[in-house]
This record gives sequence, C-alpha cells and structure tokens, in this order.
Amino acid sequence: MSLIFKRIKQSPAVLHAIMSTGNHSEKLMQLMPGDEINYQVLDNQLMVLRVDPEPGTTLLFEKIPDGFTSQKIITELTTTTRDVQGVITDSLFLAGQQAGLSDNLIMRLVEIYGWDIDFALEIRNGDHFRVLYEEQFLDGEKVRDGNILVAEFVNKGKSYRAVRYTNPEGETGFFNEQGYSMRKAFLRTPVKFNRISSLFNPNRKHPILNTIRAHKGVDYAAPTGTPVKATGDGTVMSAGRNDGYGNAVIIRHAGTYETLYAHLSRFANGMTRGKHVRQGDIIGYVGQTGLASGPHLHYEFRINGVHRNPLTVELPKALPIPDKYRQHFQSQTGTLIAKLNSSVPATIASKDSPDQDNLILALKEKDRHSTTVH
Ligand SMILES: [Zn+2]
Repeated sequence: MSLIFKRIKQSPAVLHAIMSTGNHSEKLMQLMPGDEINYQVLDNQLMVLRVDPEPGTTLLFEKIPDGFTSQKIITELTTTTRDVQGVITDSLFLAGQQAGLSDNLIMRLVEIYGWDIDFALEIRNGDHFRVLYEEQFLDGEKVRDGNILVAEFVNKGKSYRAVRYTNPEGETGFFNEQGYSMRKAFLRTPVKFNRISSLFNPNRKHPILNTIRAHKGVDYAAPTGTPVKATGDGTVMSAGRNDGYGNAVIIRHAGTYETLYAHLSRFANGMTRGKHVRQGDIIGYVGQTGLASGPHLHYEFRINGVHRNPLTVELPKALPIPDKYRQHFQSQTGTLIAKLNSSVPATIASKDSPDQDNLILALKEKDRHSTTVH
C-alpha cells in the first residue's frame, strides 16, 4: 500500500489515516498482485478509495474533515442455475471443459465422486455426466460458480447420483438418492500416484529378496515427497522405523480396520502413537526407506488383522441420514433429483438482479482513477 500511495502521490500520513479507520482497512494489507484499486483525487487530495476484495463486496474509504471513514457495502449477487451434460471420449477434464465447466467445478465433481469412482483408472469412453449448478452474476457479468446442486455420473453403465443437502443443523454434504452420504469411511487410494507398481498377491516373488513372499498390500509408484493421506479417521498406533517397511505409519480405525503406510521418506509433524487423524490428513511423504527398489507407497488394509486387497475390498458404507431428518431430506432434494429424469432445459434465471449501487461511478469522471497492484 505504501508503494501504491507513492505512485498516486499521496503521503504516508494519508495512508495512516485510512489504516486507522478500523476493521475494513485490514483488507488493504491483503491485496494481491492484479487487484484493482479505484480512487478519486481533488486538488491533489485523496477523497475516495475503493477496493472490491471479492465480487459483490466493496470497501469504501471517504474523506471527512478530520480523517477518513470506512464502510463495507454488500451487493447481492444474482444466482442462476445451469444444467449441463457431457459424454467422455477422452478424459473427464476435456469433456467437462467442452460442456462449459470450469476446472474448479470439475475438481469439485471429482471430489464428490472420489469415493465411488477412481477417475484415473475407471473412466471409460462413453461414461457421461450431468450437473446442475449455480452461477453468480454481478451487473449481468458472471463472477463465479456457485454450488453444485445435483449431479449424475454414469460410469461403466452404472449411475451414481449425488444431491446437495443441508440438514436442519446447518451441516451440508452430498448424498445419494437413498440418503447415504457420498463421503465414505475410507478413501480408496492414499496417494496421488503415477502407476501401480505391484498388486496385492499372496504368491509374489519378492523383487529384492528373490524368494516367494506374499505381497500383502498395493504399491503405488510416486515421486519421493508426494504427500500420503490417512484413508480414514482413526488413531495412530505406531509411526517409526519398522524393519523392511522402513518408516511406516499404522492407523487403527473404528471397528476392526487397520491401515499401514510404508517406505515413507519422512513423517508429517506430530505423528506419534495416540494421535487422532482425520480422513485426508497428510501423515507422511513417499520415499524408499526399508526394503524398496524405488520410491513408492506400500499400502495395506486389514480387517480383524487379516490382510485384504486394498483395490477390491468392500469398504464399509457411510451412515445414512438419521430417521429424524429423512422427511426433511426428501422435501429438500426431491425436486432436484427429479430434474435428472428430465432432459436438459435451457438456462433459466432464478432471480432478478437488485439495483446496483454504483458509488464510484457517481463521482465526476475527470477525478476518477484506478490503479493495479503489481
Ligand atoms: Zn509393497
């Protein structure tokens, strides 16, 4: 801000006066390159400074006789619903882009379906999707995507529907038509990997020991340092050097489940016995400690102490919506889900735009300027 004030020929005392106006001025400390600042000067005196930290939010600093005042003005964004569909011929990303979805929206779809569909391994030509989502506008111009409301993904002929639902306690999530959370107790894969270098195999010849030794997990090849995530909520049973496993973490989950993550280059901070971890927390980083011929994550999934194939084991279902909210769920989501049964209509505006307060536009043209943070 001090550089900008120098550029617009205003003294540090003026900046100080603006920064002394209170809470709203804190935002001025968080400006990023590319942000735009509007201002008005009259006889070399700064009269108005305006910053829009996000679409629909305006911070206005105005000159008064003994300094500046600040106020925050919220302009409600117009929300419309968009209904799009696409067929995958190459990748989900390409099909999504062709349907007009932003990268951010495609990533959110991947997140919603991440427990059911492995988008790296299981996508087939002809898989298709449909998404109803919100778009937000300011003065007729799109400023951002809103929420995904309901979606359907058909993978290998099987339909997966997901609807957004907020329960009376204000908790929001995605659920299938039967009211089961899309979020499962376990992630299928704990790491973003390049390829599977070794499958679960009770009769494998060990690549280093050269003897028949069961391979009781799956090896995911990935560069050293790639973050490794806990696949489910649980408690760390051990995190340390563990013979051939090298640096390994073992997590005990609810019920009789245990997961093991081996050959880590290092652990995440605070990984000690007894620590509680949440699904998706980073617990360590890929490496090749112990008996490993290259950097990879060795991952094991055990039920009642018995090793199971992490790629195919039937993962426990998430809990359904409690009975007391079942009726609320149906009343809130029924219409949205029904839309998936109809064909894709044209985009319909759901609300009219309120009148905009074009505050800075009311200022005289010749005194109006803007500058960009760089
Ligand atoms: Zn292995």
